[in-house]
Amino acid sequence: MRIELVNTGNELLLGDTINTNAAWIGQRIAALGLMVSRHLVVSDGAVIGEAIAEAASRSDVVLVSGGLGPTADDLTREMTAELLGLPLELDERLAQDLREFFAQRNRPMADSNLRQVMVPRGATVLPNPFGTAPGLYFPAELGRSRGFNTHVFLLPGPPRELKPMMENQVEPRLGKLIHGDRRRVVRYLKITGLGESDLVARVERDLEAIEGLGLGYCIRAGDVDLRLSGDAQCVGQAEALVRSRLEAHIVSDDNRLLEEVVVAELAALGQKVATAESCTGGLLSSRLTDIPGSSAVFGHGWVVYANEAKVGQLGVDGGRIAQHGAVSPEVALAMARGALARSGSDHALALTGIAGPGGGSHEKPVGTVFVALVSRVGPDLVLPLLLPGSRDRFKLMATQAALDMLRRRLLGLANREGTQEA
Ligand code: ATP
Repeated sequence: MRIELVNTGNELLLGDTINTNAAWIGQRIAALGLMVSRHLVVSDGAVIGEAIAEAASRSDVVLVSGGLGPTADDLTREMTAELLGLPLELDERLAQDLREFFAQRNRPMADSNLRQVMVPRGATVLPNPFGTAPGLYFPAELGRSRGFNTHVFLLPGPPRELKPMMENQVEPRLGKLIHGDRRRVVRYLKITGLGESDLVARVERDLEAIEGLGLGYCIRAGDVDLRLSGDAQCVGQAEALVRSRLEAHIVSDDNRLLEEVVVAELAALGQKVATAESCTGGLLSSRLTDIPGSSAVFGHGWVVYANEAKVGQLGVDGGRIAQHGAVSPEVALAMARGALARSGSDHALALTGIAGPGGGSHEKPVGTVFVALVSRVGPDLVLPLLLPGSRDRFKLMATQAALDMLRRRLLGLANREGTQEA
């Protein structure tokens, strides 16, 4: 099934608004096992009609965003009606809703607002509970007299209006259309602790041998999302192969982030984690607290950037810092032990490293970081890593390694390569 997207709005072309609708819709369509074949961004005004005509002439589905509002340059509705040869009729019920909308807010309603409730004959109204402009769906048969055979959806531009309409009104209809087309499945496996080239080396050749399998990689800092698509049988076969090769590296198969998985596992076990951070400056605790429900599993986090903070707050032995340096496995472990004892948590993660650009040495170059995990039950662990690059990336990758270390412990998985028991 071929799907095209038309985004309208001068602000998109001027660069004043980032076209987030295109990225978001692309992801939603991919989750249905399809791909947007092409997307077009056009200015407000008559050019919208040309863009829709062009897209409709070669696609099964056209999704259009923007230009449904009350102002003179909001022409998407009129242009589409004209293209498909459909007269516009005032929808009395929608007009009444609109009058009530304004009355409730004590605002006068300009006549121009009624343009939003003009419905091309035969089109289906898609309710917009978050704005005044309803969306519209034109089933393929409406355009046949004009030589089109395309389902057209018109959606509002503001993302907070477009997203619920896409999810609640468009996707169920697309689902039915796809069903009639062919049954496709898409699976995302989120993989951590392996670079793209490692991942490719371990699975790509065998995955490519599976007939009918669509394979994609989306690289994010710290993760690679592996996308498997095709019919249920070939996706199942591919998933089994990836699981058998990479089991401990697979964080989720439902788009959940590493921190979401960690919080969920801690909650399921009724356990808590504390954090002691030097070089990551609180990013680890920030990532944990991004997740709803984290208060049940996280109560204490320390940012101990200076040596005196490590000593004063967590009881790290100053002599040990002098002997091994603040960036050392010994100090990482001592920070974690201090955090565990002071918080009464079940686990404590600690990070100490050199983010750079200054402060590196031959022995401990910029990017050196030690991640430690100490738990009530189980051996104390420390993982030395070298993560050169920007400070942002360094912090993200270091916290990723820490979260992954805890995830593996909670799930009883093997430790990441290079992890040492202390
Ligand atoms: P309304 O006129 O009621 O605001 P509309 O359907 O006419 O709705 P537009 O005028 O095209 O929508 O856009 C309204 C708002 O939505 C603008 O603030 C615009 O920046 C934002 N917007 C439009 N298109 C996109 C897009 N592709 N990605 C992100 N934001 C968008």
